[in-house]
This record gives sequence, structure tokens and C-alpha cells, in this order.
Amino acid sequence: MSGPRWVEVSGAQPYRIGIAPGLLDDGAALAATLCGRQALVISDDTVAPLYAARVEAALRAAAPGLAVAGFVLPAGESSKTLAWFGRAIDALAALGARRDACVYALGGGVVGDLAGFAAACWMRGIDCVQLPTTLLAMVDSSVGGKTAVDLPQGKNLVGAFHPPRAVLADTAALRTLPPRELRAGLAEVVKYGAIGDAAFLDWLETRADALLAMDHDALAEAVARSCAHKAAIVGRDPFEHGERALLNFGHTFAHAIETAQGYGGLNHGEAVAVGMVLAARLSEELGLAPAADTLRLRALLARFGLPVDPPAGLDPETLLAHMRLDKKATAGGLRFIVWDGAGRARVLSDVPESAVLAVLQPGAP
Ligand code: NAD
Ligand code: MG
Repeated sequence: MSGPRWVEVSGAQPYRIGIAPGLLDDGAALAATLCGRQALVISDDTVAPLYAARVEAALRAAAPGLAVAGFVLPAGESSKTLAWFGRAIDALAALGARRDACVYALGGGVVGDLAGFAAACWMRGIDCVQLPTTLLAMVDSSVGGKTAVDLPQGKNLVGAFHPPRAVLADTAALRTLPPRELRAGLAEVVKYGAIGDAAFLDWLETRADALLAMDHDALAEAVARSCAHKAAIVGRDPFEHGERALLNFGHTFAHAIETAQGYGGLNHGEAVAVGMVLAARLSEELGLAPAADTLRLRALLARFGLPVDPPAGLDPETLLAHMRLDKKATAGGLRFIVWDGAGRARVLSDVPESAVLAVLQPGAP
């Protein structure tokens, strides 16, 4: 088998993303960036029984004398809190973690965001190596340095920019992922093609069956190409002053749907799939892009088993009210990521509410 694919992320603190099956057992790769003598492996109670012992054993074998401890949170967004953050910090204290200690974030985006934030805060910042185990975490949350926890008042309200020391994506870990979580990640994969790379959409169309069948090579290539897109964007705009906003294609609609459903209906990736189709429809409505490109996007997302129409029973006016409150809205009016056609997204301000309502009408084409 060939070695890992590597994607470089440039910036003030550059790092590499390694992508290959088997990386969670690869002690040399896991220990390559280690400087100190303590390591805390943070995971959740679904991922820990599957993978934590293997990672800890590989680390111990590769770095004799390393003090390795595990910390496990309950799986799910409801653990991404200040309370669990505090317990993770307590675990670093109990380990005697020094300034050169390392946090390994083993899990999906919930673990990655919380563990990354704990690493950002412990002694004003220690190394964090991201070991993403969901497709969403591999292609999105583990890359770019955003870390956070939620408050009752909203998601991701307390956090920091803290780029990882390295990212190691073991594509074999995706085998145990529930299919619905795989599809959620595929929505974000499609997003990279939609915003900046029509040729990647062509590739996804030809490799859709292989991806759904968890073909390793197809998955590794999809992850690598997605990471390369995110890396390029965050390398140019690390703090979201401009271009990084394009990563929110479909997300204004998605957040409104998620909020209106009280986070109990579509998951994030599913809502993003619907949101991207609505963003494409909005672009059509504004005369920016051809209908054929919307149809192509719909077909690809549907092929991946993702929803492409808003859930029945959501009132367009209610969704619009949520969008007015979205942080991407400016004083002047609604702001959306639109496209001029597949692979060509841009930010558009002062979008008329009438156009947004038109695409939200039930039965709108
Ligand atoms: P998640 O971390 O909740 O993981 C989803 C579920 O899959 C969990 O139940 C988890 O235990 C389980 N799981 C994970 N890996 C598994 C595996 N290999 N086998 C079996 N089960 C597995 O959710 P997610 O979708 O990975 O991440 C969502 C989070 O990411 C949100 O909190 C979101 O805010 C955050 N996020 C952050 C960024 C960022 O830039 N920091 C970007 C996007 C999303
Ligand atoms: Mg997203």
C-alpha cells in the first residue's frame, strides 16, 4: 500500500494533514510531532471503546516514558459545554501536563472543538493533534483552527483560534461510522466542489458509488481534495475577514432550518444539502446562474442519499426571521453566499427578502 496523502496548511503556524487507512495505529506518525512527556487522548464514549486503546498503545510503544491518559465525554453536541471543558482541563491538571504536553482529539467535531479549545487554554496554549473519526471532522472541523464550546444561548459562543499541530485522518475509522453521519460529511465534500471546483463535482459524480461503498481510495481522495480546498481558503483568510465566508455556502438556509426544527430534525449535513440547493435556487431567482446547475447539484446530493427540499411544514416567514438574526446578516440587509454557476461562489449583500421568500415557498421549482 502507498503511504499517506499529505495536505499542507500554510499560515503563521503551518501544519500537515495526513490521510490514510491505519493512521490511528501508526505510532511513528502519532508521535512525530510530540515534544513533551505527557499526552491526553480526549474522545467520546462511542469512539473511545472503538479506538482509544489502540491510539494510547501506539503512542506508548512509539514514545517510551510518555505519560498517556484518556479522557472521555458523553457522545453528542450536548457535551460541548463549559462544564465538560472544565473536566477536560481537570484531566490535564491531573496528568501534570506541562507547556510541551499534547492533546490528541480523537473523534468527531464535538471532540475536536472541545479538545482543541482545552489545548488552546491550558497554560495559554499547548499542542493539539486532531485525529478526526467522522467524515465531517476529516474534511471540515479538524482543519482551520476554530475551536469552541456551546452556551445555552447559542452554538460555538466561547472559543479560540488555535491551529492544530497536525491532523491525522485514518480513513479506515469511517467503517464504523453510521451511514447517516457519512452522508452528512458528504454534503460538506460536495460544498467544496460547489463553491470552487466544478471538476471536483465531475469527479464526485463518477465516484459516487465507490464513496457510498466506502472504497478506501475514493474516500482518501475525497478527503484529500476537500482538505486541500479548505486549507487553501483558510491559508489565505485565517480569521474569516473575507474569502473564508464562502465555506458557509448553503449554511444561512441550513442554520435557519436547524433552528426552526429545534435541532431535532435534519442533522447539520442534511440541512446544508437542502441549504445549498436553496442557495443555488436563489442565485437562479436573482438571474445569476443557470437552472441546469441547480439540477446538477440536486442530483448529486440526492445520489448521496441527502435531502434536497426543505422539510414539510416549515413556514417561509419563520425561516426568514431566523435568517435576519443570522450572524452573516449585515445592517444593510440579508447577506448570502450565492454562485454564478457550479464552482463559482461569491458573497452577495443586500439580497431582497422577496427573492428569499420566493425560493422558500412550498412547491417552488
Ligand atoms: P460528532 O462529533 O457528534 O460525531 C457524530 C457521532 O458519530 C457521535 O455520536 C460520535 O460518537 C460518532 N462517531 C464519531 N466517529 C465515529 C466512528 N468512527 N465510528 C462510529 N461512530 C463515530 O459530530 P460531527 O458531525 O463529527 O461534528 C459536529 C461538530 O463539529 C459540531 O459541534 C460543529 O459545531 C463542529 N464543527 C466545527 C467546525 C470547525 O471549524 N471547528 C466546522 C464544522 C463543524
Ligand atoms: Mg457546516
